[in-house]
Amino acid sequence: MALKGKIKVKNTIVEMDGDEMTRVMWAMVKEKLLFPYLDLQLEAYDLHLQNRDKTDDGVTVEAANAVLKHGVGVKCATITATADRIKEYNLKQEWKSPNATIRGILDGTVFRSPILIRIIAPANRNWKKPIHIGRHAYGDIYKNQEIRVTGPGRAEIIFTPSDGTHPVRKTIQEFEGPGILQGIHSTDASIRSFAKACFAYGYDQNVDVWFGAKDTISKTYDSTFRDIFQSEFEKNWKGKFSSAGLKYFFTLIDDIVARIMKTEGGILWACKNYDGDVMSDMLASAYGSLALMTSVLVSPRGCYMYEAAHGTVQQHYYKYLKGEKTSTNPMAIIFAWTGCLKKRGELDNTPEVINFARKIERSAIETIESGTMTGDLIKIATLQKKEKPVNVDEFIEAVNERVASKL
Ligand code: NAP
Ligand code: MG
Repeated sequence: MALKGKIKVKNTIVEMDGDEMTRVMWAMVKEKLLFPYLDLQLEAYDLHLQNRDKTDDGVTVEAANAVLKHGVGVKCATITATADRIKEYNLKQEWKSPNATIRGILDGTVFRSPILIRIIAPANRNWKKPIHIGRHAYGDIYKNQEIRVTGPGRAEIIFTPSDGTHPVRKTIQEFEGPGILQGIHSTDASIRSFAKACFAYGYDQNVDVWFGAKDTISKTYDSTFRDIFQSEFEKNWKGKFSSAGLKYFFTLIDDIVARIMKTEGGILWACKNYDGDVMSDMLASAYGSLALMTSVLVSPRGCYMYEAAHGTVQQHYYKYLKGEKTSTNPMAIIFAWTGCLKKRGELDNTPEVINFARKIERSAIETIESGTMTGDLIKIATLQKKEKPVNVDEFIEAVNERVASKL
C-alpha cells in the first residue's frame, strides 16, 4: 500500500555527521530510508574532521549542547585525530576525540547492544537474546599516573585533604629492585551516575541488571562500586524493578563472566571501565560483527545519543575514493537512526514514528535473513546456498524495497 503523506516527527533530532566511509553511508541511509517517508526536523552539526579543525572544535561542543537541549541526537563515526591524520588533513592540532568531548558534556554511560539475526549464530550457542553492556566511561586506568621504578625504594600512596587535616598515607611496596607503579581513582558522583544510568537503561529495556566487581580483593575500591550500586538500587529502583518483574544482581566479576557464558541473554551487564572496554569487544565479536553492534550514550541529564559502535571504516573509504564499490555494512548506522527515532517517538508520544522505525529494523533484518548481505556477514552466515556479497548501495536499496512493501 502506498504511503499518503509523510510521517511527522514532532520534535527536533540533533544530527552529527562524521567522516570517511560512515559519512558516505550516512548520506545514503538518510536519502533512501528516511527522507522519502519522514517529515523530520534535523538540527545538523558537521563533525567532519576538517570542520572541527576550522571551528577549533567548537562545532563538537555546540553539537553536544544541542543534544542536551533537544534530548535526542544521532552521531556518525568520526576520526579521532592522530599524528598521521594531522598530515592527511593538514590540521592545526591533534583535536580531542569527539566522543570524549561529548561524553564530558553529557556525563553519560555508553550502552552497547548487538543486533540479532537468525542466520548469524553467536559464537556461544546459549545466547538467544542480546546481552547489553554498560561501560563506566570514567576514571580507573584511563585517567591514571604511572611510574617506572628504576631501583630500590619505597612506594607510597598519599591523600592530602583540602581542609588541612592530616594526610593519609600508606606504603604500597618496599622495592628491592626495578618495577612498576600505577595510581588510579574514581569518584562517588561518577559511580552513582553510572549506577543510575544502568538501572534506568535496564528498566527501559525491560532486562535484569548484572554488575560484577572484584570486591573480595579490592576491599575499598571495588567495594565502593558495589555499595553505591546497592544504595542507588534500594533508594530509587527496588520498587520499580520488582513491579516490572526485574532483578538486580551483584556478584564477583569472575562469577559474572562464568554465568554470562551460560545465560540465554536478555540482560544488561554493567561493567567497570576496563572490564567494559574488553568485554564489549568480546561480545561484539562473539555476536558476529562490529557492524552489528549499536551504541547509545545515556546521560543522567535526560538525553540520549545514538551511534554505531564501529569507526569510520577507513580502508573501505580509500577504495571508495578510487571509485571502487565497497561492501561495507550499514546496519549499525541504520539502527542508530531507528534508535533515535524510537526514542523521539517515545518522548513525543508519537507511536507512528516508533512503528515506522521498527519497520525499517525488521526490513533490514529480513533482507539479511533472505540472503542479501554485505561481505563481512557472508563470511559468518549459515546459508543454504552460496550467496554473493552486495555493495552498500545495493543493500540499502534492498532494505528500502522491503520498507516500501510494508507501508
Ligand atoms: P573501524 O572503522 O571500526 O574498522 C575496523 C575494521 O572493522 C574495518 O577495517 C573493517 O574490517 C571492520 N568494519 C568495521 N565496521 C564495518 C562495517 N560497517 N562494515 C564492514 N566492516 C566493518 O575501526 P578503526 O579502523 O580502528 O578506525 C578507523 C577510524 O575510526 C579511526 O580514525 C578512529 O579514530 C575512528 N573511530 C571512531 C569511532 C567513533 O566515532 N565512535 C569509534 C572507533 C573508531 P575489514 O577492513 O577487514 O573489512
Ligand atoms: Mg575495547
